[in-house]
Amino acid sequence: MTTIKLHNTRTRTKEEFVPIDPRNVRMYVCGPTVYDRAHLGNARPVVVFDVLYRLLRHVYGADHVTYVRNFTDVDDKINARAAESGRPIGDITAETTQWFLDDMGALGALEPDHMPRATEYIPQMVAMIESLIAKGHAYAAEGHVLFAVDSWKEHYGKLSGRSVDDMIAGARVEVAPYKKNPMDFVLWKPSTPDLPGWDSPWGRGRPGWHIECSAMSFELLGESFDIHGGGNDLMFPHHENEIAQSCCAHPEGRFANVWLHNEMLQVEGKKMSKSLGNFFTVRDLLDQGIPGEVIRFVFLSTHYRKPMDWTAEKAAEAARTLRKWRALTVGVEPAASAAPAVLEALSDDLNTAGAITEMHRLASGGKSAELLVAAQMLGLLTNELGDWTERDGIILDALTQKLTEVRERALETKDFAELDRLKALFVEAGVSVQMGKDGITLAAGPEVDLKTLEALK
Ligand code: AMP
Ligand code: ZN
Repeated sequence: MTTIKLHNTRTRTKEEFVPIDPRNVRMYVCGPTVYDRAHLGNARPVVVFDVLYRLLRHVYGADHVTYVRNFTDVDDKINARAAESGRPIGDITAETTQWFLDDMGALGALEPDHMPRATEYIPQMVAMIESLIAKGHAYAAEGHVLFAVDSWKEHYGKLSGRSVDDMIAGARVEVAPYKKNPMDFVLWKPSTPDLPGWDSPWGRGRPGWHIECSAMSFELLGESFDIHGGGNDLMFPHHENEIAQSCCAHPEGRFANVWLHNEMLQVEGKKMSKSLGNFFTVRDLLDQGIPGEVIRFVFLSTHYRKPMDWTAEKAAEAARTLRKWRALTVGVEPAASAAPAVLEALSDDLNTAGAITEMHRLASGGKSAELLVAAQMLGLLTNELGDWTERDGIILDALTQKLTEVRERALETKDFAELDRLKALFVEAGVSVQMGKDGITLAAGPEVDLKTLEALK
């Protein structure tokens, strides 16, 4: 059996992955808060853990892996969105959840086996909070329930490598008067009548953010499971707090054995943020005509533990490669087994960039059946992604014919105005136009605007 090695944030080393039960390998990944379209950064963990899911299914068998990714559908950002838009919370979360599934589907991500919504697990969260209070790890105060970090002081902060004392020294937050220790975090908080709330032993209220992942992972995967993932921005406080809650509520278990964190996404070398104006959603890119497969390829060309830079140049390069690979593998049956070098790269802490290098080698060696099976392990060249190269090709063929006719007429009449006008429109829509003696060649660039082109046919 293939040996998978994964970098474990908890131990800070690359370790051989040994599942608790190879017949049921269990992975939990923190999912989105559903109040808005997913931005490009949100898609990175989805693609990274999709590749890991595919690798685990390949090695242990598709029926022997359980992947859980949650939807956070109770959160103050959602409440704020409802208040400013005047729309019911349920409408916003349902719509955003579907957007997320559609957009991630367009990137070729498989749906996890379970996608629990926080609001469906409130009783389990209340039960876990009650158990934490009973064990002396939490206390109720002024309608809130707080986790007492002092009750677990030697362990709290281990994942992110901080001590409670350092954290207190570095904290500049205003400390709520009901907290015994400034680092204590909220498990439950009171709701006013206009906010979502559930009856509980501490009055009508709603859960803090962290408790949902502890309650849902316990419910769906048990007190010990194999892999926990998410972006490295979640390491502290979210993952640290999940560990505290789960390990204290279920001391018989180990919670997650291996912790995996993806690095952040940047755009043209800068952090992606609304204020810098370089913020865009996955849907924005898809609407511009950048195929989901191209976005996925760009993501996979950087190792998940390195910051990844989204650039138009990378998207162009990815589109060129994928066009070539799609042309090479038309009508080809995937090889019976994965190319060893590709599998080896993926098993080495998800070295997707290394796997792509191997795939270039297979492509230039004409090994199309091996290329196809390897690509499909990474979720590329799959039928689900649709053959966008064919779709582009049909449009470009029609436009080439049109431009050829217009040019012939122009040469006869010596009036080039219409030809120049059309050419300019094509270029503006992201197509390069080469007019030679032997004919006209159109090539779609990465930001090709297919909708506009389709209308020009
Ligand atoms: P959120 O909806 O903000 O809780 O984030 C959902 C997921 O997206 C988490 O796993 C985050 O770590 C991840 N994430 C958010 N921003 C970025 C980014 N710029 N690059 C990579 N991952 C991100
Ligand atoms: Zn979580």
